[in-house]
Amino acid sequence: MYIGRFAPSPSGRLHFGSLLAALASYLDARSNHGQWLLRIDDIDPPREAQGATLAIIETLQAFGLQWDGEIVYQSQRSAIYQQALDQLKKNALTYPCCCSRKEILKRTGSIIYDNYCWSHPPSKTDNIVWRFKNNSRTLSWSDTILGHQSLDKSQSIDFILKRRDSLWAYQLAVTVDDAAMGINHVVRGCDLLSEASKQLLLIQALNLPKVTFSHIPVVVNSLGQKLSKQNLAPAITTNRIGYQLYSALVMLGQNPHPSLRNADKSDILLQSIANWDPAAIPLKYSTSHRN
Ligand code: GLU
Repeated sequence: MYIGRFAPSPSGRLHFGSLLAALASYLDARSNHGQWLLRIDDIDPPREAQGATLAIIETLQAFGLQWDGEIVYQSQRSAIYQQALDQLKKNALTYPCCCSRKEILKRTGSIIYDNYCWSHPPSKTDNIVWRFKNNSRTLSWSDTILGHQSLDKSQSIDFILKRRDSLWAYQLAVTVDDAAMGINHVVRGCDLLSEASKQLLLIQALNLPKVTFSHIPVVVNSLGQKLSKQNLAPAITTNRIGYQLYSALVMLGQNPHPSLRNADKSDILLQSIANWDPAAIPLKYSTSHRN
């Protein structure tokens, strides 16, 4: 059974780019008679925006994007991330590291980590990070939209699993949760493309089931900047929902019938599920998003 998901971080409200990711993952799941789950990736409290979680949930509901089952919150799942880290420790696939950025830069002349602490274990146990011992220097996989992908040098470093402030790194939490939730299809923005390789390395290392990735283009504003919560892209409003869904379908190359422009959201979603064509998603959107 197809199980997909939408997994927003509550670092801000949903913007038009997030709506595209939510809609594409929803339509892909529903058109495959699959489940569509919602997970709130709230593992980074310092970056959380007040009220964002509730606003995200209310926006999805307003757009008729109804998920299956209970919402999963990463903030409540520290125990399973710790179990995964313990499993990696047992298999010598993680190690503590105490290097600061400054030290790495001084040693290597770049910010790319040189795996120093693997051969020089730190003597202290506090103020350290846990890094993934990445034994596979090559990895290739196929994205359903972007085609053949392989690791580049910056992705083959021993990346961080647990941070100095004891917070979990995104890659570990997402990989462990996707597996625990039974997710086998991930549809999301291609700003996360380079994370997929790291997730696949962790999937191998933790012996978890495979996931299929589909990365849709990111939306840019009229200045060519990616819409993101960090660069304060405007939050989508819940006015003119039908029109916004219609515009999102046009961006996704779905060629919606013009009569849907002012249709009711449930009619738009039903029609879009029936006509969903992932092969029509462009590699790049032809228009920018006007605010
Ligand atoms: N939580 C991540 C974000 O909002 C996305 C996680 C994912 O789709 O894998 O950027």
